[in-house]
Amino acid sequence: MDEIWQETIDWCPNEQQRSQLQLLYLAVITANQKLNLTRITEPAEFWEKHLWDSVRGIGTLINDSTALKVIDIGTGAGFPGLPLAIARSDWQLTLVDSTAKKIGFIESVAPELSLTNTHALVSRIEEVGQEKSHRHQYDLALIRAVASANICAEYALPLVKVGGNAILYRGNWTDEEAESLTLAVAKLGGEITKIDRFTTPISNSIRHCIWIHKTANTHPYYPRGVGIPTLKPI
Ligand code: SAM
Repeated sequence: MDEIWQETIDWCPNEQQRSQLQLLYLAVITANQKLNLTRITEPAEFWEKHLWDSVRGIGTLINDSTALKVIDIGTGAGFPGLPLAIARSDWQLTLVDSTAKKIGFIESVAPELSLTNTHALVSRIEEVGQEKSHRHQYDLALIRAVASANICAEYALPLVKVGGNAILYRGNWTDEEAESLTLAVAKLGGEITKIDRFTTPISNSIRHCIWIHKTANTHPYYPRGVGIPTLKPI
């Protein structure tokens, strides 16, 4: 896959990273028999939808010289967080999920991959977003396949420091979603700066990554209590 990595992302894993990505695949497949972590298990599909997509989502940041403090919200079995922790050993990644068994998997797999730059946390993100040690602390918040875009923005933006970014990993993207997200991010202290539309290299699926720049501190009202963002999206 080296050529595809290089051509599509202008980045290619070195030998150590390649073996870490391979170990991650084997660990997910093994744990999947008991934990039901993902329905994507076929090697090429896993590579495209979990590994390539995780790295492609952050665009040119993968080659940026700055070391970032990153949070992956609703990480599940560790996507996009774990491939990025492998690709950027100089970054610090906090991986949050409300499901204990998924965070348990990440805690067991990180040492197997010799990763020392991840911290896994079992919690609802509505609670994390109100904690002093996490609120306005991150350069970058990532969120893939967790909820609708407005809800994702309410989860992500309170965690990002002014000047940082949130990236929402989406499949399809419509004008209606863009319109309603624009209004939501204005209330949360952000603005949409980029809609990055791309095609995946094997199945040619369309993906969108929505970049939101943090322009002002988020009002303490957000994120609202557990379950409220889902019940009453902004
Ligand atoms: N991001 C991963 C991926 O793309 O493969 C997992 C996506 S999975 C469909 C959604 C995950 O978000 C689940 O593991 C779920 O437990 C987590 N989640 C949903 N709402 C959450 C919340 N409010 N706080 C923390 N985790 C949440």
